[in-house]
Amino acid sequence: MATEKKDIRAYSLIELQDFFVAKGDKAFRGKQVYQWLWNKGIHQFDGMTNLSKETRAFLEEHFTINHIAVDQQQRSSDGTIKNAVKLFDGRVVESVLIPVKDRTTACVSSQVGCSLDCKFCATAKLARMRNLNPDEIFDQVVAIDQQSKAYFNRPLSNIVFMGMGEPLMNYKNVLSAIDKITAPSGLGMSPRRITLSTSGLPKLIKKMADDEVQFNLAVSLHTAIQATREQIMPFAEKFPLEDLLASLKYWFEKTGKRVTYEYVVWKGINDNIEHIRALVNFCRQVPSKVNLIEYNAIGDDDFKQADPVIIDQYIEYLTAAHITATIRRSRGKDIDAACGQLANKNQENT
Ligand code: SAH
Repeated sequence: MATEKKDIRAYSLIELQDFFVAKGDKAFRGKQVYQWLWNKGIHQFDGMTNLSKETRAFLEEHFTINHIAVDQQQRSSDGTIKNAVKLFDGRVVESVLIPVKDRTTACVSSQVGCSLDCKFCATAKLARMRNLNPDEIFDQVVAIDQQSKAYFNRPLSNIVFMGMGEPLMNYKNVLSAIDKITAPSGLGMSPRRITLSTSGLPKLIKKMADDEVQFNLAVSLHTAIQATREQIMPFAEKFPLEDLLASLKYWFEKTGKRVTYEYVVWKGINDNIEHIRALVNFCRQVPSKVNLIEYNAIGDDDFKQADPVIIDQYIEYLTAAHITATIRRSRGKDIDAACGQLANKNQENT
């Protein structure tokens, strides 16, 4: 019976070095392989040209390299590209390339589906199937970097974990992927150009602070009133705003990094002065800024974008309190690639 080959990218550098030593080779060989995998992003043992033919054949015999395949690409009229990304087990997630002036941002997924239940989000309608492995997150970044070079003549400059899934519910793999993306032996990208967005899980926000991460944090707040939050993000019942705020204070004390709040204003939900005051008050507790995100309809009548005058009022109050607030326009709406619209619409197998 053939034993199933293990994915070589599940091994750390030390494990690869030990592996080569155990078979009577040099530890250095492990480093060479590691560099091919994580620095050059190669997907075939045959392409590891500084290894002997025998070594390559040996690796081929014992390991596999599971990798993603960009199955389908849709291009928006605004330049945004949405990728349907096929994983080794046939499941599909989406990733998005967003060109902004002279920069390119990659929006990547961390889970197949999502376990949270935000009422306004298309991804939430999909059950969580599984977490992505570090290499599956890494590969999305490599693929978008290649697209950015091919279509825009420049490398990828920023990464946001704002695709499918809740990154903090896949903590270990997301941090391991970021490690490979930022390490000099990996892609060498600056962690300052990476933003992890969470729906707000206090214990894990504290854990990130303890782990001294170097990337930026965004929190999908949407309301600073607990009762409203429980209505639109039911999981918030277990993670009250008080605890969220305490974790963000801790985050700031430990990292010195201000927090970005993502905030959509909906008609009849949070488009009133009480909500504006609550947000201003919430923002005063921890150095922060607010991104007012345009709502992207997902075919649900309960949620409608608020009138522009109330958005102006939000900006006015926040600005008066010396809190930076920006309006973030949607990108890639025509291909369902905007925030909250990732739902594998064109795929059958989800
Ligand atoms: N689970 C993480 C990562 C997803 S990021 C999080 O919640 O932060 C996706 C962002 O888009 C979040 O800020 C989310 O609240 C927001 N979003 C979800 N549905 C949306 C919609 N229909 N229109 C606009 N933004 C939406």
